[in-house]
This record gives sequence, structure tokens and C-alpha cells, in this order.
Amino acid sequence: MTGSDTTAYSTARTVEDFTRNLQAVNTRIGAALQRAGREPGEVRLLPVSKTVDEDRLRVAAAAGCTMFGENKVQEAMRKWRNLSDLDVEWSVIGHLQTNKAKDVAEFAAEFQALDNPRAAAALDRRLQALGRQLDVYVQVNTSGEESKYGLAPDDVIPFLKTLPAYTALRVRGLMTIAVFSTDPERVRPCFRLLRSLRDQARDLDLIGPGELSMGMSGDYELAIAEGSTCVRVGQAIFGARPTPDSQYWPGN
Ligand SMILES: *Cc1c(COP(=O)(O)O)cnc(C)c1O
Repeated sequence: MTGSDTTAYSTARTVEDFTRNLQAVNTRIGAALQRAGREPGEVRLLPVSKTVDEDRLRVAAAAGCTMFGENKVQEAMRKWRNLSDLDVEWSVIGHLQTNKAKDVAEFAAEFQALDNPRAAAALDRRLQALGRQLDVYVQVNTSGEESKYGLAPDDVIPFLKTLPAYTALRVRGLMTIAVFSTDPERVRPCFRLLRSLRDQARDLDLIGPGELSMGMSGDYELAIAEGSTCVRVGQAIFGARPTPDSQYWPGN
């Protein structure tokens, strides 16, 4: 399945449902790694739990999830509060408004959508005040679509050069959302572009371990073939989302 065809994703409700879905995704990750001649364990699976209610997140945690990716800061923070008895961490993977930097600094274990200088400065300031550091990924708009957040490819290296000044931000790598298409030959160039930017940044020693967060339910195997080290998978684990993604990516 590729792109936005989500009809096959049934809703996971029980521990058995989640265990089965996680196993299926992990098996496909393993097979994709093997086909690419890569080592097992080179890809981290980040379950994306946006729109999923807290009761079902408890079940997912019981099935072994230890980190959840959330797109909206307010929703993530509510879940973080209400599930504080669980041993789970929170990754913010959606656009950050500067006035929410304080919240992210407080509860997030990771922020994958850094894409502008104001957000970097605001996050760093809030983290310094709390005496914390935060793992961050720089989001790149690799599809050229107006509707997508992320830095233009040409702006990535200059932006990365400004980040060492923010000592509370630990730069881990790059993140992208590929074009939504059922045609792998339209999706692949997005992943290739992210990887080539990562390689350039690595040559300049700007990008820490140089992680590549790319690949979602519809395209994670392709992303792994192109070098992904973190796939963000929602619907293939939790089931189809009732809400259209236009709520998450303006203009879609
Ligand atoms: C929703 C979302 C995902 C997961 O998409 P699925 O189709 O549910 O796998 C991945 N990354 C980001 C940034 C998202 O907002």
C-alpha cells in the first residue's frame, strides 16, 4: 500500500491487535532492511498516535510501545499528563508555534519538526531555563509542496550552521514527509533528497549521528530502501484515522 489508501487499516483495540500489527510492521521493516543489504535493528519504529484516545494508548503501551509520536503540542501534552503513570516517552513530530516552545521543552523527549530560527531560539531558551537538553530533527520540505512544513532544501545547511549556538538542542538528523502518491517513482526522490542533504551535512560535521526520519504507513519500506533510520508509523499500527490529514497538514 502506498500514499493515502488507508482502507485496509482496521482499528486496533486489544493487546492482541496491537501485538499483531507491531509484529507485522516489524517484520516488513526487517525484510526491507535485508533487501537493502542493511543490518537488522538499523531502523527505529516510532508509533504515531495522533487522534488515538488515551484508553487505546494504554493498550498499545501494554503491547510494548515505549514512545509515541504526536503532531499537535496540545494533544501531546494532554496525553503526557494523563498517561504519566506509564513508562512512555513523547516525540513531537508536527509544526511548532513559538508560543508552544515552553510546553515542548517541558514534556517532549524529542522534537522532529524544527524548521525555523525562531523556534530554535525559543526552544533553546525554554530548555536552558529548565536545565534540559532535547533531541531535535530538522524538517525538510522535500516535495516542494506549498502545503508542507519544513525548510527548503537550499536552506538546510545554512540553518544547521546556526544550531551549535543553541546548546540545549541536540541535533540528531533530518525529517521529511514525502509527497502523497501511489507512484514510488514520485515518492523516492523525496527520500533521496533528504539523504543527500544528510550526507552533505555530515561532511561538514553539522548533524550529529545523521539520522533520517522518513517513511510512514504507506511508504516506510521504500524509505528504508533509501536509508531511513526512523519510520513514523500511525495507521498501520493503530488503524485508519477518522480525521482527514488536512487537519494536520494545512492545505492538503
Ligand atoms: C500522521 C503522521 C505520520 C504517520 O502517518 P500514518 O499514515 O498514520 O502512518 C508520520 N509523520 C507525521 C509527521 C505525521 O503527522
